[in-house]
Order: sequence, then structure tokens, then C-alpha cells
Amino acid sequence: AEAARLERRDGHYAVGFADGSEITARTVVLATGARYRRLHVPGIEPLEGASVHYSATVYEAQQCRTDPVAVVGGGNSAGQAVLFLAGYAPQVYLLVRGPSLEAHMSRYLIDQVERHPRVRVLLHTEITEALGEKALEAVTVVDHRTGEHRHLTVRALFVFTGADPHTEWLSGALALDPRGFVLTGAEAQACSVPELWQSQGRDCLTLETSLPGVFAAGDVRSGSVKRVASAVGEGAMSIHFVHRYLDHTAAPGGTDSSSRTRSKKSAWLA
Ligand SMILES: Cc1cc2nc3c(=O)[nH]c(=O)nc-3n(C[C@H](O)[C@H](O)[C@H](O)COP(=O)(O)OP(=O)(O)OC[C@H]3O[C@@H](n4cnc5c(N)ncnc54)[C@H](O)[C@@H]3O)c2cc1C
Repeated sequence: AEAARLERRDGHYAVGFADGSEITARTVVLATGARYRRLHVPGIEPLEGASVHYSATVYEAQQCRTDPVAVVGGGNSAGQAVLFLAGYAPQVYLLVRGPSLEAHMSRYLIDQVERHPRVRVLLHTEITEALGEKALEAVTVVDHRTGEHRHLTVRALFVFTGADPHTEWLSGALALDPRGFVLTGAEAQACSVPELWQSQGRDCLTLETSLPGVFAAGDVRSGSVKRVASAVGEGAMSIHFVHRYLDHTAAPGGTDSSSRTRSKKSAWLA
């Protein structure tokens, strides 16, 4: 059932599906995740999961104690992965297509990455091929300034080239960040008209979107950690918030919800 539309109607939310059907509800939890950008170069696909990874956890890092590894990407997640992996691997190459790290990485990370004795940053550099049958043996890279191709001996490749949220269907329905991830909490409130939250008699809850009673959990949420454990935790938290919302907000057609919630402000904050 592919959700295709979200709209507010008579105090409820209507979720429309691609097959034309629809459900209405008083609260909604958005958990539609994100699409990770994959690296499309020859030789990569068969090695995904074995030597080509899209996240860097202790599990992968512990397998990198003896050989050099490479990280692809120029953003904060790539920088964090490089520093983490450098605690395990003897050499970590950071492969960046652009001319500098400044465009997408925070200063504090750049300083640590550039100072680290086991990290080597290769700018203007792109992977053109992954070599190895059952496990990665090397990658071919091209330096775009010189056009020179060369092999780097690495036994693992970590790809951090970003993710696109599954939020096309939410465009215009609620506040999204510039990359399309769903804003929640204080950031969502800052994008709403002040009267909206005044009428609720409370501030926007953590994990609540710019639509009162609509929550977001996991990768789809702006600023999320992009890990299974955090997505599961946010899912559990969001259900707790759903119960609080339902407990403190009158159903449409019942008691006037705005005056009722105003009188319940202390309960919300408890
Ligand atoms: C290759 C890879 C390896 C990873 N490795 C790790 C790892 O080792 N450790 C770790 O902690 N994390 C890892 N991650 C990240 C982890 O998978 C995510 O952080 C986690 O799955 C996020 O959960 P989620 O529920 O937010 O989203 P998802 O797991 O992406 O689930 C979202 C679901 O919503 C569905 N959906 C999307 N749009 C709609 C729609 N319009 N209507 C209905 N359904 C929709 C999708 O089909 C999907 O089933 C990895 C990710 C990738 C891609």
C-alpha cells in the first residue's frame, strides 16, 4: 500500500494510497525511510555487503584491522566514518570528487581528518572500478585534474554519498528541510505559524512534525542518525507520543479541542 497523499480534513488526517483508496486517522506516524545513493561502477555490485558497505559500525571496522580501506564521500557522515575507521585500519583513504572538504563537511571534522596520521584525503578523485571477485582487492580511481588512473590497494570500501528521503508524496503537506527530510520538534515549530501551536496550548513535541498529531521516525526524519537502532527507538517513542496526543486532544466533534488542550498544558509538559 503506497501512501501517495496526506491532507488535513475536518480535524482528521486523510492518507490517500496509490490505488485510490484512503484511510482517515487522528494521528499519523511517518516512517517511509530514505533511499541511499549507491555507487554505480563496474565490479561494485557483487561485493556489496561483503567488502562494500553503506555504514561503518564496529562489526565492519573490526574486519579492517590489517589492511587499508577507502571511504567515498565528502560530507559529515563520510568524515565521521573516516575517523572511526582510522581507529582500526592501518590506512584510510578519503575519496572526494570535489576540490575541497569545506563545501559539505563541518570544520571540526575537517581539522581532525586532515590531522590524522592514518588518513589520506584524495580530492578531485572518483572511483571508476572495484577489483576483486569474492572480496575487494583494489579500486581504480581517476584524478580529474590530471586524468590519471591508478590502483589503490584497499580491502573494504565504505560509501557515504548521501540519501534521498521518501517524501515526494508529502511535498506541500508539511515542513521539510532543504533536502526533503521531515522537520520535527523545535525546527518544525519554527516553520509553522505561531497561532498553530498557541491554539494547541503547547509546543511541538520531539518527533512531531509541523502538523499537530503527525509524527516522523527513522531515516525520513531530518537530523536522524540513520541507524536501525535509532529508527526502532524513534518508532517506539513516536507511539508513546501518539498516546499522549490522543489522551490530551479531544476528538473532532467532541469537546472543543483547543480550550481542552490549553487547560491540559501542564499535563503535556509533565
Ligand atoms: C545497504 C545498507 C546497509 C545498512 N547497514 C546498516 C547497519 O549495518 N547498521 C545500521 O544500524 N544501519 C544500517 N543501515 C541503515 C538502516 O537500514 C536504516 O537506518 C534503517 O533501516 C531506517 O529504518 P526506517 O524504518 O526509518 O526506514 P526503512 O528501513 O528504509 O523503511 C522504510 C519503509 O517505508 C517504505 N516506504 C517508502 N515510501 C513509502 C510510501 N510512500 N508508502 C508506503 N511505504 C513506503 C519503504 O519501502 C520501506 O519499506 C544500512 C542501510 C543500507 C541502505
